[in-house]
Amino acid sequence: MEQLSKLLKDNETWLMEQILSYSKRHNYTKYTSTLLDAWRLSISGLTDALCMNLHMHGIQEPQLHADENYTNDPVTEFGRLEARRHRARGINISMFLGLFKYYRDTYIDLIIEKSPEKLKEPWIRFILKSFDRFEISLSAEWITTKDSEHIAKIEETNRHLSNEKNKYLTLFESTPRPAFLIDRKGLLDNLNLAAAQLLGLSKTSGEMYYSKGHSTLDKKVGVLHKPLRNYLPWIEKEATSFLQGNSSTQRIETNTDLFGAHKYFDVFFARMLDVSDKFTGILIIIDDITQRKQLEDQLSYLATTDALTGANNLHRFLERGEEEMEHAKRYERPLSLIMLDIDHFKAVNDTYGHAVGDDVLRSLSTKCREILRLTDLFGRIGGEEFAAVLPETDLEEARLAAERVRRALSQLKIDGPDSSISFTVSIGVVEREENKNLADVIQNADKALYEAKHMGRNRVVTKTRNAYG
Ligand code: GH3
Ligand code: MG
Ligand code: MG
Repeated sequence: MEQLSKLLKDNETWLMEQILSYSKRHNYTKYTSTLLDAWRLSISGLTDALCMNLHMHGIQEPQLHADENYTNDPVTEFGRLEARRHRARGINISMFLGLFKYYRDTYIDLIIEKSPEKLKEPWIRFILKSFDRFEISLSAEWITTKDSEHIAKIEETNRHLSNEKNKYLTLFESTPRPAFLIDRKGLLDNLNLAAAQLLGLSKTSGEMYYSKGHSTLDKKVGVLHKPLRNYLPWIEKEATSFLQGNSSTQRIETNTDLFGAHKYFDVFFARMLDVSDKFTGILIIIDDITQRKQLEDQLSYLATTDALTGANNLHRFLERGEEEMEHAKRYERPLSLIMLDIDHFKAVNDTYGHAVGDDVLRSLSTKCREILRLTDLFGRIGGEEFAAVLPETDLEEARLAAERVRRALSQLKIDGPDSSISFTVSIGVVEREENKNLADVIQNADKALYEAKHMGRNRVVTKTRNAYG
């Protein structure tokens, strides 16, 4: 007796999968719950009833008696409840009993498959008789309800369902996130108010539900039942591959031009799957993250750029400089570094004031970036010291670039308090060496720069490989 109870309880998942497979094969899932848990509940309810039957009657077949009143039997209570519930939902008895027969087969299958040989026969008899009791009891229940009661029940269920639907409709329509329901063919099944607004369509809340098929969306705009490319072309590729794939959720970030503005979106895809593959389709929820993106860009600009000159700040210069060094090493490419310092800059500050000094720094930075290539990395590495990493550039090419910079800066005219002023710079140039890191290269450029200062300023000094050991 305990052995059979244990077998039934231990195999809840097996039983659930078996009944689901019968239901799918014989089309019952068209009318039943889409939730896996509902199937688990019905199996555990039946198992509990069978175990109660075992407890009350033992393994002896529970016989049927002519005068028995099945409507009070606690063992068959489960069958009666199920009968009432299904009847109220408008299911008819032939459909209900048909599926119930497959429940019986499911339990028999379990015993055939998993019970000891000599116990098979008594256990099967027990299951058969127990199900007979359930069926008699639920049939009795079914016919004792009057039609008027039946209709009242259906009406009540209907009201309940409408309320439930309205609850979820409110949630769907009032969420500020655009949501799209796409059917399994990739056609738009439904969209909420925020989604219509995203597409620039006019839509009133709940329009699709209350307009009885004459929705303005249907007529005027014609996005309903249309493929994604008609209304979300910018995620068509991702949505299609998600629809055809088998992951249950996915998240992507993307950006597109919408109504003249560049927008960033976080897009979430979820598969709407149920146990019987009935309502397959996908849900797309779109989150506009443009503001956050712009803020991030702004923060990253502030964190990497020198506020006065717009050049890369030291931190950024070193970070990207290391990357360029790594690249040059890996592909054995030339790379040079130039370092410059303004000559007698203290005198500029002292004579014309700090504000004019700042103007000098700004003009210098702008001019250098004009002269250097886009692929060169330019940064402010000290108060009035700047450096540039020149990828794909050997020492001689770097010297020429430095010379151009020096000459251009010496010709710059900055507005002073009375007249325009000019300034010069000294520049050190070196090429990267094997096994030297960025710090070593910077140090060597600094030495070359120091020599340029010593030799009289306003000049470029280059250092060949290993000049400084
Ligand atoms: P040298 O030719 O030897 O380089 O002489 P120098 O006067 O330029 O000497 P040094 O390079 O030591 O000068 C650094 C000066 O740069 C001192 C400091 O007041 C000035 N300076 C540093 N940062 C700023 C800044 O942000 N704005 C202004 N206006 N001046 C700055
Ligand atoms: Mg200096
Ligand atoms: Mg200086």
